Amino acid sequence: MAIRHKHDVVIVGSGLAGLRAAVEAAGRCDVALVSKVFPTRSHSGAAQGGIAASLGNEEPDSWEWHMFDTVKGGDYLTDQDAAEVLARDAPRAIYELEHMGVPFNRNPDGTIAQRAFGGHTRNFGEAPVKRACYAADRTGRVILDTLYGQSVQKGIRVYPELSVMDLVVTDGAVRGVVAYEWATGELHLFHAKAVLVATGGFGKVFKTTSNCFANTGDGAHMVFRHGFPLQDMEFIQFHPTGIYGLGVLISEAARGEGGILRNRDGERFMERYAPTIKDLAARDVVSRAIMSEVREGRGIGGRDFVHLDLTHLGKDRLEERLSDISSFVRIYLGIDPATQPIPVQPTCHYMMGGIPTDVDGRVLDAAGNPVPGLYAAGECACVSVHGANRLGCNSLLDLVVFGRRTGRRILEDVSDLSFTEAGGEALEACRERIGRLKERRSGERAARLRQRMQQEMMEHCGVYRTARGLEKALGLIRGLQEECRTRLVLDYKGDRYNTDLMEALELESLLGLAEVMLLAAQKRTESRGAHYREDFPERDDAAWLCHSLVYRDGDRVRYATRPVSITRFQPKPRVY
Ligand SMILES: Cc1cc2nc3c(=O)[nH]c(=O)nc-3n(C[C@H](O)[C@H](O)[C@H](O)COP(=O)(O)OP(=O)(O)OC[C@H]3O[C@@H](n4cnc5c(N)ncnc54)[C@H](O)[C@@H]3O)c2cc1C
Repeated sequence: MAIRHKHDVVIVGSGLAGLRAAVEAAGRCDVALVSKVFPTRSHSGAAQGGIAASLGNEEPDSWEWHMFDTVKGGDYLTDQDAAEVLARDAPRAIYELEHMGVPFNRNPDGTIAQRAFGGHTRNFGEAPVKRACYAADRTGRVILDTLYGQSVQKGIRVYPELSVMDLVVTDGAVRGVVAYEWATGELHLFHAKAVLVATGGFGKVFKTTSNCFANTGDGAHMVFRHGFPLQDMEFIQFHPTGIYGLGVLISEAARGEGGILRNRDGERFMERYAPTIKDLAARDVVSRAIMSEVREGRGIGGRDFVHLDLTHLGKDRLEERLSDISSFVRIYLGIDPATQPIPVQPTCHYMMGGIPTDVDGRVLDAAGNPVPGLYAAGECACVSVHGANRLGCNSLLDLVVFGRRTGRRILEDVSDLSFTEAGGEALEACRERIGRLKERRSGERAARLRQRMQQEMMEHCGVYRTARGLEKALGLIRGLQEECRTRLVLDYKGDRYNTDLMEALELESLLGLAEVMLLAAQKRTESRGAHYREDFPERDDAAWLCHSLVYRDGDRVRYATRPVSITRFQPKPRVY
């Protein structure tokens, strides 16, 4: 038995991308949100620093400069038609959020306040520009709460604490999903005309990450399992300033407000790596700089971290603009950032790659054609506006710009799509998958396998990569996949909030995505953006100015490439 539902549109994931699409489509069709965690607990609520738009409230700015920075930040792998949509639509999106009720920080004249962020510049790279709109250091929190409020107002049906386990696919079209309810252990079958996957990132593949526990890539892996491609999966952003040893994020806003990175000698080392914009260079550049300092013995006390110095900003400014961050540092490290520097190291933060879509959120198959009934938005999608490296504050913007466009597109398409009774097979397959896991009496626990995966990925698929390291990691990950299939055991076999089962299901997704990342990283024999190959340290536009696609074809995994859209800015060497 399963509980059956019927909704025109099922949105999987209620972070900002899912919520924004839901709010757009609701009212004119029947929308349901199915989410592993309660909507306001989605990772979007952890976003600290801000959301980018060329409002020009503090100093002159233009959408063309924003578009250029996005393309350059992405090391020219960004699809420029999509980056143009993002940058042009940004000011409208901010005013829309303001009208919905988002309490942005203000200037004395009442306009929305803005601050500097990495890689955002005026006049095509001349100097940093203040482009990030913010609400102290809890920008994602206030936008998420506001959009959740909108969804309540529109009467959108929410199914919280249900994990979607599979898509219902018949004749190449997506017709619904199967979900597992954590409180009861029951399976649900949702019939739908359209399914939007908005399940966020998958930083949990790595040992050190800023991501929350729910970011395990279930949605991206589900799409991959059905033979649809994943794009640019080798591009994984390591944010320069994670709290040492924990990975908890210290937002780039800390450097936007004037924070400085220092090595063991107290030197402001970014002056050597990015002479023009220094500590506000793009994230891949700063992360590599930190790792170089550490490798050359200039980490603090010769160890694997550097210092983020905020002491010159003063207590009042820290309290006003960076209060959450200051409190994290006090709680986790027992350090007062007003008087002591913060130990930081790069932390896995963001997936540039994901499910390929067009600018209206329609998922594209390996041949580049839209898959009927399937849409993706947010971090799990790859539009691709972030190319090989995302700029800070461009993700929240991506969520609201492309979330809205996807909601609109679904409304246009939904009258041409239909319900089916399909889903019985997918439902049975999910039931068997759970049954197999619960039956096993002895073997290996998910936590142990996950730990080995995270360690290996951190070591060989992190900031620096080599052919040998990637090969070794691929062997280990495939071995872990086999162990996962044959030996994974649950301690608790009950139906109520079985977190053992949750970890086991999530591990399958994480391992599947780790394999795709490694394959894509192995193939790309160049260095671009966040993908740095020590054995191929140069960018190679002649061979590699293209997106990568990895997809399943029966039992085989295939690799292909797709051209990048270049409309305005020809690739140039990337210096900051
Ligand atoms: C600490 C931190 C700070 C950040 N700061 C900024 C910033 O200042 N500015 C910026 O632009 N970006 C920032 N980012 C990036 C940005 O916040 C994320 O990229 C973005 O929030 C992702 O939004 P999303 O809607 O795609 O997914 P999320 O907000 O991650 O939501 C994912 C949703 O999917 C659901 N889900 C997952 N799996 C399943 C499943 N199997 N079944 C059902 N539901 C499922 C979850 O319940 C959740 O609702 C930050 C990220 C982090 C981690």
